[in-house]
Amino acid sequence: MRITVLGKSPSWQDVDGACSGYLIQGGGQVVLLDCGPGVFAKLRKHVAYEDVDAVVISHLHADHILDLVTFASGIRYRPWPGEPPRPRLLAPPGGPEAFAQVCAGAGMTADHLELAFELSVYDPAEALALGALAVRFQPVPHYIPANAVEFAEGDARFTFGADCGPSQALCEFAAGTDLLMLEATLPEPEPPDDRGHLTALEAGEHAARAGARQLVLTHFTAELGAERIVAEARRAFDGPVSAAHEGASYDLSQ
Ligand SMILES: [Zn+2]
Ligand SMILES: [Zn+2]
Repeated sequence: MRITVLGKSPSWQDVDGACSGYLIQGGGQVVLLDCGPGVFAKLRKHVAYEDVDAVVISHLHADHILDLVTFASGIRYRPWPGEPPRPRLLAPPGGPEAFAQVCAGAGMTADHLELAFELSVYDPAEALALGALAVRFQPVPHYIPANAVEFAEGDARFTFGADCGPSQALCEFAAGTDLLMLEATLPEPEPPDDRGHLTALEAGEHAARAGARQLVLTHFTAELGAERIVAEARRAFDGPVSAAHEGASYDLSQ
């Protein structure tokens, strides 16, 4: 299984960056995890968009979904004949309604995404399979419902924390994972009654509690500095730590 970072920026993009988006290739599948602003162009550097089998959405914030509109335009309006691709789009509950509002509010038809994708709503309590990839979800604390997502091919596990505040449930979900990708959005924790993101130090603490083999920090602005956040996470986690950047890829063997 190969994981490639397409976008690691938070809700505003770095120079030449993109918001949340990750390419997962394994189990005979090409999967896009999240599709934030800028991700569609980054995707095309690595694969033809016609070859994407499925898109999985962690939660419905703008920085995780807005390039679905662009992706759908690529599918619907591409200027050559033939049957267009129809990738699956696996959305969290509320996805179809949110997508219809986004598309209608932006001058498209409300069904713009449904005309391009095979849209379905996943139940975060249920595991599912994409080819030979096993997919599991774990609800995590955020300002709106959000789900950590695990992809496993054989014994190889990749766990993506989505956007989340401190969560023991996430540590248990990710226990022993090969690659834990956690957000490191904040320079300092938010007030205790308003948690929806992590600092890099907290990401390190979560990786240590999970016993992850490797930690990759993501969803941080370049203004925070990759070296600084890696150093912060290393204060709590003594395994390998790195900061995501667009184009970085990680190979996990089964
Ligand atoms: Zn979010
Ligand atoms: Zn986000």
